[in-house]
Amino acid sequence: MKVILTYTILTIFFSVIIMSWIELIVKYIRKNKRKKKYPRYVCRDCGIKFTGGKCFKIPCWYEGRCDVCRKIKIVTEVRDFYYPEFK
Ligand SMILES: [Zn+2]
Repeated sequence: MKVILTYTILTIFFSVIIMSWIELIVKYIRKNKRKKKYPRYVCRDCGIKFTGGKCFKIPCWYEGRCDVCRKIKIVTEVRDFYYPEFK
């Protein structure tokens, strides 16, 4: 009887520890997923907003999703805005 009781208590104890570990790992993975990537395409409005009007002379524009404001607009590559810091 005593052995069974000890075994049960130990099992519960370890399962609680393991569950909390799993929870921590899941939280960590979700946090990393949410991290913002550096945008690849940017629209004119966002580019000018973050560079203060600095823009490459002849950027090649095409329609696509802006990685900063997430809208479908006429976009170009970030290099045409000299890789500004997006906050
Ligand atoms: Zn934009």
